[in-house]
Amino acid sequence: MQKTSDKAVCSSVVALQGIFAKIEKAATESNRSFSDITLVVVSKKFDVPEILPLLQAGHRHFGENRVQEAQAKWSALRFDFPDIKLHLIGPLQSNKAAEAVQFFDVIETVDREKIAVILAQEISKQNRCPQLYVQVNTGREPQKAGISPQDAVAFIRHYKSSYHLNIEGLMCIPPAGENPGPHFALLEQIGREANLTRFSMGMSRDFETAIAFGATNVRIGSAILGHRDDPGQPRRL
Ligand SMILES: *Cc1c(COP(=O)(O)O)cnc(C)c1O
Repeated sequence: MQKTSDKAVCSSVVALQGIFAKIEKAATESNRSFSDITLVVVSKKFDVPEILPLLQAGHRHFGENRVQEAQAKWSALRFDFPDIKLHLIGPLQSNKAAEAVQFFDVIETVDREKIAVILAQEISKQNRCPQLYVQVNTGREPQKAGISPQDAVAFIRHYKSSYHLNIEGLMCIPPAGENPGPHFALLEQIGREANLTRFSMGMSRDFETAIAFGATNVRIGSAILGHRDDPGQPRRL
């Protein structure tokens, strides 16, 4: 690990290590291997100076929820850290699909037919093949993106076979204020039926539960980088 000043190690790097320790503990408690779980640090709304210490500490997987914001921050960082893996974790608009295919390593938010079709076109046009996850609206919330649970398996089979989409996993965001466990269990069940091996589930407040239910990717922002909405937070975008 690298010191970012002679005074103290950056607090986000300390937090990162604390999260890794908790991931390892949760994995052990579920008889799972720590190395099967990818920590995706959600860097949305934070800028390069906040992200850099984590990169210097060796972290490589990051999540962003907007294509343009990600391009603005990460284009230059990728020259210095070519092995960065960027995950799109926010809703994708069809007019941004081409850029998303070009820019992201994992698109976790395939959430409707139209996007699946456009992604298939872009993937063959660009000959670039990011990993794709299907977002499932496990809480059937009208305002939330995602395929409904009852349609998910057929959706995945259709786009894998007829469009040859590289769908490897599932992603969900359980309803706020609900016990997330049943949502994680539902995602895992859909994945098993559809033969998928990656599960992006769990955020700062519930990642240990998600690991118990089989998460392979946890998406953690505020527990590492601090609160995005703190008025005192410096350099927010
Ligand atoms: C912002 C965000 C996260 C990170 O949330 P924290 O509570 O800050 O850990 C995870 N997943 C998605 C889809 C997000 O938009």
